[in-house]
Amino acid sequence: MDPIFSPPLHRQRHQFVIDFVMKNKPRKVIDLGCGECSLLKKLRFHREIEVLVGVDINGAKIKKKMHVLAPISTDYLQPSDAQLRIEMYQGSVTQRDARLRGFDLVTSIELIEHLTLADVERFSAVVFGYMTPATVIVSTPNSEFNPLLPGLSGFRHSDHKFEWSRAEFRAWALKVCLEHGYEVEFTGVGQAPYGQQDSVGFCSQIGVFRFRGREHCNMLCDSDADDVSSYTLLFCINYPSLRDNNTLRRVLVTEVVYWTEQLKKRWIKDKTCQRKDALSFCQNERVEKLQKQMDDMAWPVERCLEVVSDSTGQENYKVLWTNGQKQNDPCAFNRYVCVPLAVLWSCCPKVRDLSESVGNLRRLLMDEPEIKLSQDGSAVLVKYQEQDQEDEVNSDLEDSCYAEASQCSHSAEQEEDWETDV
Ligand code: SAM
Repeated sequence: MDPIFSPPLHRQRHQFVIDFVMKNKPRKVIDLGCGECSLLKKLRFHREIEVLVGVDINGAKIKKKMHVLAPISTDYLQPSDAQLRIEMYQGSVTQRDARLRGFDLVTSIELIEHLTLADVERFSAVVFGYMTPATVIVSTPNSEFNPLLPGLSGFRHSDHKFEWSRAEFRAWALKVCLEHGYEVEFTGVGQAPYGQQDSVGFCSQIGVFRFRGREHCNMLCDSDADDVSSYTLLFCINYPSLRDNNTLRRVLVTEVVYWTEQLKKRWIKDKTCQRKDALSFCQNERVEKLQKQMDDMAWPVERCLEVVSDSTGQENYKVLWTNGQKQNDPCAFNRYVCVPLAVLWSCCPKVRDLSESVGNLRRLLMDEPEIKLSQDGSAVLVKYQEQDQEDEVNSDLEDSCYAEASQCSHSAEQEEDWETDV
């Protein structure tokens, strides 16, 4: 039947929910009778949602498709600031489960017509009386539209127990509101041809219920019910989020390791005077742009540390890089390039965003085994080996200007490409 609509009717129903989510920004959402998770699959990209739950009586259906809800590699490589937890349950909407209470939005898309009328009563008591979400979206076929569906005799699906007219849906919905303290608006998707819209209504009728509070409720409500958990948890996953401290540290350490290496290379290039010479021969616009970006970087740390010791006090080493002006030659084993945290923080936007302040940056890096801090905690120490310098000289001699550009450009240019690709 769907092909008579464009987009197909099932997509229009899901789009209705997505538009509602975009407008109302619920944080906790449940899809009842979620089937093969197709609505959940779309909803997980709406990162204002923090908890997303799917329930279906048919566990096999959920299991078949639930893996598509797992995070993908970019979710791990570039975790977002948002939080998302997805839980999938096998269970019947006629039974209570305390884990599903207190949500912002519950959707029931083309579900109730699969229940007997007695079970619809149970559904109403469970969803509106026990779960008491702030909003509920219920969609169900509108039987008045059926004569317009080509080749249809009887119900739209063999498993349907009923198909309601608009008046029947309305009567059920208003009773629910009266009993459980909700108000409802009626709408739908799948428009009838011009001129017939009023007489038949939408192909799928939709009720949007909003909780008004218990004072509007006519009957004894179920809100004090016990702590039951009748559903079976099939799948549960937390998406990586920068709000999780471990994820934040992992991403930050990766950035710091990368940037301290870049800054070390820069120092080595400056020191060997290869960089500018190589670049000056190059008219390539891209290289010039990069050269300018490097030169424009403001290095706020003016002081020049001569000799510092590491946190154990065991090793002595020379500080090789400070503000680009005063540089000391390496002269001993256990040498380090010293990259002040203030420099890292001010010239690496992602480090700045992740850590928010230099003090925070120090605190976050303090116990990280991959990061070596100076004794006073003001700088990251990057091991300097003779090989580093040799590598730089060799690569400068061997490489073309293009190679020079790609080596320097990881920061801005490649990241943009990467994001575009995704
Ligand atoms: N909501 C989905 C959608 O829009 O694509 C699927 C709708 S499908 C027509 C109806 C779903 O309701 C089926 O996946 C079925 O297994 C589920 N269902 C039927 N009775 C149920 C019950 N008592 N509790 C939970 N789910 C039920």
